[in-house]
Amino acid sequence: MLPDSFVYFDRLPERSIGELESFREAGGMVVGIYCIYAPVELIRAAGAIPVGLCGKQEAPIQHAEKELPSNLCPLIKSSYGYAVSDSCPFFSLADLVVGETTCDGKKKMYEFLARCKPLYLMHLPYAQNLSGAEAFWRNEVQRFSNFLATKTGIVATEERISHQIRLHNKMRQEMQRVVSLATEPRSPLAALHLMTILESKSFVVDLEAYIRHLSTLRLELEEIIANSSPADNGSPSRILLTGCPIGKGCEKVLRLVEEAGASVVCMENCTGMKSVLRMIPEDGDPIKAVADRYLGIPCSCMTPNTGRFETIQRLANDFKIDGIIDMTWQFCHTYHIESHVIQRKVRDTLGVPFLHLVTDYSTSDTEQLRTRIEAFLEVAAN
Ligand code: SF4
Ligand code: SF4
Repeated sequence: MLPDSFVYFDRLPERSIGELESFREAGGMVVGIYCIYAPVELIRAAGAIPVGLCGKQEAPIQHAEKELPSNLCPLIKSSYGYAVSDSCPFFSLADLVVGETTCDGKKKMYEFLARCKPLYLMHLPYAQNLSGAEAFWRNEVQRFSNFLATKTGIVATEERISHQIRLHNKMRQEMQRVVSLATEPRSPLAALHLMTILESKSFVVDLEAYIRHLSTLRLELEEIIANSSPADNGSPSRILLTGCPIGKGCEKVLRLVEEAGASVVCMENCTGMKSVLRMIPEDGDPIKAVADRYLGIPCSCMTPNTGRFETIQRLANDFKIDGIIDMTWQFCHTYHIESHVIQRKVRDTLGVPFLHLVTDYSTSDTEQLRTRIEAFLEVAAN
């Protein structure tokens, strides 16, 4: 039996559309974001609301391929396809969009996207520890904050940013608690439910209400777990999923792993834990604190990207995982290349089975993937 409060998270995207419309009618500004490098604390501190616009469905890709090369990652094509076909209500509601110079495909796509909607581009350094990188990025974060003030008329003062830091820290902490309960063997939530909960944070209008709903969900989960007998389905292999972001519409690998009888107990990717780890210090200069937190995100667009394996290692221990699946979207060069590095480190340090899958948003390879996943899970179970 699912917790009653799950419905709130499941229906949040549709509900948010109405709330965003009302917010805009009252003069508010909606900012579309495509990546977890977007410092959402600053968007809210400037009185605006951030919404996630990353394309997760296959249908819009055909529109994107009229202009973009077909050998581009499906996430980029889907995101752009939604924009040119004006088929995403959240894109329509966004007054402007913000992008970051992450991977090559995405940053060049933004040049096209700027023809559909006002676009603000943040420039990211590609090395987190390079001398000057921190100062450069801090300046970018400040520049973005200044830009938002010119649009909303609200200056993100230190007090306003600090307030948002506290709220987002609370949300991330509460989400982490929910995730660790949801992956408890007696939890009624499957990985697809967990993905819905994690993904819902992209569509939040009222953040304080959202945090309250997360707390309710946690309490309900605690009660269900306390009153349940141990699961009667043996001990399914506990899998950690890493790699490119996934979401509703492109969750086939997650679905296949669960259909094969294993449990995806942890998603390290941007839809998963990567977006809720790393708290922001609540004292000191808030712009610096925000900038440092975001620069530390271990995306494969960074080189070197040592933080990704460190995160995987920590999560693998915390979630007691039996195997790791690394999923790369086709033509995502950075994650594809990095998979070899991750595989070597997993073998040498963690000693658990590792599977790398390359796929896209179509269903054409479903049976091939199923065969490979089932074979992998046999190894992981031994
Ligand atoms: S994988 Fe990298 S570029 Fe893509 S959403 Fe995550 S942080 Fe952004
Ligand atoms: S999945 Fe890879 S290629 Fe696609 S947007 Fe993310 S980093 Fe870029």
